[in-house]
Amino acid sequence: MTASVASTASSPGRPQALTLLGSTGSIGTSTLDVVARHEQYRVFALTANDSVDVMLEQCRRFQPRFAVMVNEQAADRLARACRSEGLAVEVLAGSDALIDVASHPEVDTVMAAIVGSAGLAPTLAAVEHSKKVLLANKEALVMAGDLFMGAVARTGAVLLPIDSEHNAIFQCLPPESRLAGSANPHPGVRRIVLTASGGPFRDAPLEVLATVTPAQACKHPNWSMGRKISVDSATMMNKGLELIEACFLFGVGPDLVDVLIHPQSIVHSMVEYVDGSVIAQMGSPDMRVPIAHALAWPERMSSGAAFLDLARAGALEFSDPDLARFPCLRLGMEAAREGGTAPTILNAANEVAVASFLAGRSRFTDIPVIIAGVMAQMTCRSADSLDIIQQADAQARELAQAFCDRN
Ligand code: NAD
Ligand code: MG
Repeated sequence: MTASVASTASSPGRPQALTLLGSTGSIGTSTLDVVARHEQYRVFALTANDSVDVMLEQCRRFQPRFAVMVNEQAADRLARACRSEGLAVEVLAGSDALIDVASHPEVDTVMAAIVGSAGLAPTLAAVEHSKKVLLANKEALVMAGDLFMGAVARTGAVLLPIDSEHNAIFQCLPPESRLAGSANPHPGVRRIVLTASGGPFRDAPLEVLATVTPAQACKHPNWSMGRKISVDSATMMNKGLELIEACFLFGVGPDLVDVLIHPQSIVHSMVEYVDGSVIAQMGSPDMRVPIAHALAWPERMSSGAAFLDLARAGALEFSDPDLARFPCLRLGMEAAREGGTAPTILNAANEVAVASFLAGRSRFTDIPVIIAGVMAQMTCRSADSLDIIQQADAQARELAQAFCDRN
């Protein structure tokens, strides 16, 4: 089905009311930067885990009606600070409040930019309430894709991808089939090509990978991002998650999606058609571009990003990924082919392994070993209820933690 934006967009003259889930993070702050450039948006709610100082500054500047802190002590501190400054912001605490502000009847658009599985419940709530949902939180879709896309088709929520590759694919697909939940097969499309920078270790000698530090892994050559996605980019699990994300968003099998290394991150992805035409979307590597695209869709508006200067960009290179160097990408491809709860298990094990690496308890090269170990021990089932997904997620986390503790 093709959902209509009119069902969620604000009426003419009234600003669009936004809830930003994960407003203090990299995507959250880029979103607020874009929003501040345009008058047609009103920030209804901001949410964060525990970053009080950043949230207080955002409350001063954007005057939301609600600010949610998942951490209760952080919520107390924020509430005291808002009161002492006379800010008319209602501070809410706990993860249930995320669901309340994502599904509130006054909200038109929800930016889903929490990192990891914590974003699933509020993002799904926004879909269930037929909001326009801008999806950055790929883990939510990877862990519960069938359920999530079923809810999009049932409710007519408008789901627009923020991940730069998926936003690019959205722009390159035929207009009649690009919306998530569309019943149309993609006419004339031969394959989708997901580009990947290859991260900071694309050419590093293999023997140094075991001693890589979190600071080195988080230093991405082209993008400035949160720590978890930076590690995912360094292992290329990010591209494995994105392959699964593309399959769910665009209703295609993994065999229709290829991964291509493109170190410059200028071509954000491509769609190849049966006549040999390839349509690519290009732009500066700046997340404000896909954010502005999705916020304004189906119109266009400025993003604040630098315009692309191809004469000075230098050569654009492309090559096949090396699956021996990036075993996490291979694991992502396997989970995409297996389907059912395999992506849920992959995602959960990866979240635990990355947290352990960032905490200095596991090596960079342990990450794929932990995930492969968990995947080998668990039996996949069809992922048709939230119960099954939550069980698979919990069991995978427990097993992954046991692997981390053993190392
Ligand atoms: P980040 O770590 O910078 O920010 C995460 C946000 O989520 C913060 O506001 C934090 O307070 C909040 N948060 C963290 N844990 C939480 C919890 N348990 N409950 C509620 N809120 C919590 O992350 P980011 O880089 O902005 O990435 C956010 C999402 O967007 C991720 O899913 C990532 O894969 C995706 N994404 C990011 C980029 C990028 O350029 N940063 C690009 C594409 C996709
Ligand atoms: Mg991406």
